[in-house]
Amino acid sequence: MSIPLIVATGNPGKLREFEQFFQQLGCHPWQLQLKPAELDVDETGQTFADNALLKARGVATALGEWAIADDSGLAVDALNGAPGVHSARYAPTTAERNSKLLQALEGSGDRAACFICEIVLCRPDGSVAATATGRCRGEIAPDLQGSGGFGYDPLFYVPEAGMTFAQMSPEQKQRLGHRGKALQQLRSRLQDLDFATLQQ
Ligand code: IMP
Repeated sequence: MSIPLIVATGNPGKLREFEQFFQQLGCHPWQLQLKPAELDVDETGQTFADNALLKARGVATALGEWAIADDSGLAVDALNGAPGVHSARYAPTTAERNSKLLQALEGSGDRAACFICEIVLCRPDGSVAATATGRCRGEIAPDLQGSGGFGYDPLFYVPEAGMTFAQMSPEQKQRLGHRGKALQQLRSRLQDLDFATLQQ
């Protein structure tokens, strides 16, 4: 049995990440495909879960196929959860986003923050078959530390590791990070799906 599964993203990096995940799952029916470039879904939700659902449902119903989407970002306690769902658009470039965040926290004693990742899997009719959430709590470092990763990684310090995401190996970030944890949860939720109903 082979079931097309559309990855509802325009980002080939995310497709690769999901491909790796499904490869590690071993035996499964899913045949992953990137969504068509012309099919765009606006991320107008108020939460990461809303946006992941909008993307997965929008693509599933437009194509009549199974679809999976994720949405992620950084929520800073002292900024009432900002940049949150606006993480990618907080400022025009990565460097500007990071300095804007440092400026916003200047003089603040509370630097607690959380990276969040939500994943939604939709059936061809747009109904939700599985969801998964991953969170990683940490602190916004006083300055950029490390050169790995992407985005806010050099500012996100994880106390249990004693380093920022940008100082971690990819494996360590995967183990402790929000996306890795969400994928781990997705693994067990996929195993719970009734394979007999997948073709519906
Ligand atoms: P999206 O999930 O593709 O909508 O991206 C959300 C935005 O959150 C990214 O553009 C980054 O700014 C930020 N982000 C999400 N995950 C990470 C991460 O693991 N490290 C650094 N930044 C991240």
